[in-house]
Amino acid sequence: MIIVTSEYGDVGLPAAMQDLHDGGSALDAVETGTRIVESNPEDHTVGFSGLPNLLGEVELDASLMDGRTLRAGAVGSLRGYEHAISVARKVMEELPHVLIVGEGAARFATEMGFEKRNLLTPEADRIWRERLEAEVPAERRGELRYREKMRELARLAVDPELASETVNFLALDRHGDIASAVSTSGWAWKYPGRLGDSPIIGAGGYADNRYGAAACTGRGEMAICLGTARSVIVYMKMGMSVEEACVEAMNDFEALQDPYAGGISIRAIDRDGRPAGASNREDRFLWYWQDDVDGPAKLPLVYVDTGH
Ligand code: ASP
Repeated sequence: MIIVTSEYGDVGLPAAMQDLHDGGSALDAVETGTRIVESNPEDHTVGFSGLPNLLGEVELDASLMDGRTLRAGAVGSLRGYEHAISVARKVMEELPHVLIVGEGAARFATEMGFEKRNLLTPEADRIWRERLEAEVPAERRGELRYREKMRELARLAVDPELASETVNFLALDRHGDIASAVSTSGWAWKYPGRLGDSPIIGAGGYADNRYGAAACTGRGEMAICLGTARSVIVYMKMGMSVEEACVEAMNDFEALQDPYAGGISIRAIDRDGRPAGASNREDRFLWYWQDDVDGPAKLPLVYVDTGH
């Protein structure tokens, strides 16, 4: 049994591992770990207290996948519900669909009995406002006229220094079942309605018991264009090790001519639970926790220069 998570997912690791110890499934464990990150008020990039879009609205994206059945559920641009990952799971379990967005996602969350919550905290609001005000000339601020020119301001969302950090969870349970989960408030100051890779199955996350699981953080547009999470799985299917597969998926970005391209990281496990990852930024790592050891350990992601 193993749980893997991204840099800021460590707060959810103990509860996720407890789930596996208690006989919970990989799917239960990735959901449990993700929910804790979604509730963490210190984390401004996932769930409650996430940074908002250009209009000041927090919009959440999340997906999860069951590697045993290859079924998946996802929500995008979900407003007003903290646990996007649990709504995504309900999409998988209750609807004949995979991805529900915007008002439909909120309607479905209400229908499933999820509690509504204002996700914008005063601190996240302050961070959002200060940056917008720094970018908008003083004479325009009072009128909030920047709202008319949102397209010009959407470039705020691609400043690599302000890159947010989505959370990834991958798990292998005692039955050999594998699952993936991804949750995020996406890029702050994004154009309203923008979906990143997190709710796109095959881009931000993928799980298949036969080969393993993979998930991404970073500039989601890149992972969407290259189908990154599914690529890692296919490279493993073709015989690569989990580390080789992550590096190969990272190499795929070399051909990408994206004027906004930035950092992107992949974390993965193979079907035996071996973890690995790769990133085009240095000093990135993943957390992994194997059930037979007392606590989590860090594993550096292989650095790959993609030219971005
Ligand atoms: N991948 C996420 C997105 O593009 C952002 C992130 O990982 O920080 O929405």
